[in-house]
Amino acid sequence: MTNTLVSSDVNFEAEGKQCGYLHLPHSVHRSAYGKILIPIVVLKNGDGPTVLVMAGNHGDEYEAQIALTKLCRELGPEDIRGRLIILTMANFPAAHAGLRTSPIDGGNLNRSFPGDPAGSPTQAIAHYIEEELLPVCDYFFDFHSGGSSLFYPPTFLRGMGHTPFEKQKLLELQEAFDAPYAWVFTSGGGRTTTARTAMGAAGRKGVITAMAELGGGGFVSRDILALTERGIKRLLHCAGLLPSYLPDAAHGTRELTIAETVTAYDSGVFEPFADVQEEVRKGDTAGEIHFPEDPWRAPKALYFQEDGMVLCKRIPGRVERGDCLFQVGRDLK
Ligand SMILES: [Zn+2]
Repeated sequence: MTNTLVSSDVNFEAEGKQCGYLHLPHSVHRSAYGKILIPIVVLKNGDGPTVLVMAGNHGDEYEAQIALTKLCRELGPEDIRGRLIILTMANFPAAHAGLRTSPIDGGNLNRSFPGDPAGSPTQAIAHYIEEELLPVCDYFFDFHSGGSSLFYPPTFLRGMGHTPFEKQKLLELQEAFDAPYAWVFTSGGGRTTTARTAMGAAGRKGVITAMAELGGGGFVSRDILALTERGIKRLLHCAGLLPSYLPDAAHGTRELTIAETVTAYDSGVFEPFADVQEEVRKGDTAGEIHFPEDPWRAPKALYFQEDGMVLCKRIPGRVERGDCLFQVGRDLK
């Protein structure tokens, strides 16, 4: 054990299926010895890989919260080989409130690694994941969506890998997840990374890791949920944890890197001229920001600076200076 203050109902070494909570002390006015209870399910069956799957890193990203909740109810230890650790609401206060960040401390879990055992609740959760859970893992899959402000088509996220085995395995996992798109990070990661993300934490611990962006906009997409449920089982099978699962034929994945982020430099109401998965060219109008406060003022046009495919799009119409409006992906060379 490190100096974490988080305790656990579950014994990570025990065979079988255990359902319980991580206990994070949270002493407040209305509850002197209160705790934040973070749900956790652990399944173990003999020797095999240890896999951590996580939703609710951002609390307003829902497809994987549903998919992993179903998995918690559906899987028994006899279905797996090795150990599966499931967190359905990793930043519990944020997920319970349906917010990206924690309403308790404002913390964005995916910018809080490596965390601090004596810090805010979000920092303490980050520390527990990085120092208690990841060191025992072989694989870590962290599921996201665009949250309330963005929408992505189903997209697998991965690095390039830092060993020949990791490179090969990441390609196999990408093919297994079978999202239509992959966003490939061509640099960073590895044991020396200082990234504040969960992916960075996994890199520091030498854990093979991937993420996914699965819809967003603060709602649940039925087709993306179905792809998420299928994809998670296929990832677990590929990792060697679900030996009897029989994956059907893959549809194929288009690999992209981010060519451009279109940012608002004005505050107003954004009229998009493109949608996700649309091919755009340098110089095309990305949209216009309108100023209903001064309706006689001409709208401010924004232009794409690169050729590529729209990978994500802002959902709320109201925009402020600095908001991300689009990300454009270019095919990985
Ligand atoms: Zn997220």
